[in-house]
Amino acid sequence: MTPLDYDRSFIWHPYASLKDPPPVRFARSASGVEIELVDGRRLVDAVSSWWCIAHGHNHPAIVEAIRRQSEKMCHVMFGGFTHEPAVALAEKLAAFAPAGLDRVFFADSGSISVEVAAKMAIQYHAALGHPERRRILALKGGYHGDTSLCMALSDPDGMHALFKGLMTSHLFADKPSCPFDGDWNPASARSLACVLDAHGHEIAAVICEPILQAANAMNLYHPAYLREMRRLCDETGALLIFDEIAAGLHRTGPRWAQDHASVTPDIMTVGKGLTGGHLTLAATLASARVADVISNGKPSAFMHGPTFMANPLACAAASASLDLFASGDYAANVKRIEAAFRRRLDTLRPLPNVVDVRILGAVAVVEVRRLPSQADLSDVIDAHNVWLRPFCNFIYAMPPLVSDERTIDRICFAIMDLASRPPDTTPIESDFHE
Ligand SMILES: *Cc1c(COP(=O)(O)O)cnc(C)c1O
Repeated sequence: MTPLDYDRSFIWHPYASLKDPPPVRFARSASGVEIELVDGRRLVDAVSSWWCIAHGHNHPAIVEAIRRQSEKMCHVMFGGFTHEPAVALAEKLAAFAPAGLDRVFFADSGSISVEVAAKMAIQYHAALGHPERRRILALKGGYHGDTSLCMALSDPDGMHALFKGLMTSHLFADKPSCPFDGDWNPASARSLACVLDAHGHEIAAVICEPILQAANAMNLYHPAYLREMRRLCDETGALLIFDEIAAGLHRTGPRWAQDHASVTPDIMTVGKGLTGGHLTLAATLASARVADVISNGKPSAFMHGPTFMANPLACAAASASLDLFASGDYAANVKRIEAAFRRRLDTLRPLPNVVDVRILGAVAVVEVRRLPSQADLSDVIDAHNVWLRPFCNFIYAMPPLVSDERTIDRICFAIMDLASRPPDTTPIESDFHE
């Protein structure tokens, strides 16, 4: 049995079946914007390996930080110990984050950091004598992870619909409909106001992906929506949680997606690009007020503690990654990426299968009525040597933030080729949606 045959028979891949699984490619190494396959071909990673490879694959500074740390200590429990990589990272992260979010909880994945954020909000209200405030208000079209609390906060009709009813029922407002670059329409926040009005007394927090609803909707919405959300939270006493796991760390241009609106939450999650995508690590950042209230409650302990909390290798990688963010002009390079996307992809608008083209920062989405066939997708990947991973009815790119214009052009030509292929009746096995 070849390794590939073994893989097909025994190993689950994300959102995939073990019966007739969709094809996988055998990766051997990766560097810069490219992934090298065992046959020697190199594919441009147009999706940054699910949006986390911020500075390119195997960045020498990050690899070196991991290597140096591995010689001293790969892991130690965070209960009862601390270490230099954790302290250094916490300081850097607080300095990089919006002012006021300097209390840090290190989690081992994005989903866990969201679970932690929700638990913080609930424990905060319990400490204030309001244990009845334990529901979270989320947005339709949102995505916050695959663990059960995260599923309960993601679009109820989206990818987790099979598990509907299994989780605590939380509350949802309509998907923000006002586009990022259109005129602000206050009506698009009406549903949010209505739910808060009806349920404010039982709501612990409002959570959203600021500006970019990624994995469920690939929706870019207006910054004024976030300002309205902040105002409504202040009015009703709900905490505000921004999930910056996908949109943060310059993905949409500025450091954080919330910077488009100049609004700061009470709690924020960061993951994906935190280590430059080299190891798994996420963090939940909270304001002093949130931390103080929880710490003065009963119990005063915050009740969460994963085995691999603040893993030293991951912290060292994240420290090196934040140093890179601080030393380069990422906002300017992301602007160049955005301009290069616009130049090419706006030409797709007239195609009959194209519904919309949305571009912001290093995010380009071509929404189609129907995806082309799996065969056409494979053909496009092989013809252009560009790795694309469309899902639902989105052909998109979220390339490494260091991509040059030549790389973006190559990605665009692949997307243009794919979007011009006929829509298929047996569409591509989709990542997130059935
Ligand atoms: C990917 C993602 C998560 C989940 O992160 P994992 O590391 O996959 O658990 C949560 N929220 C958002 C917005 C994401 O894009």
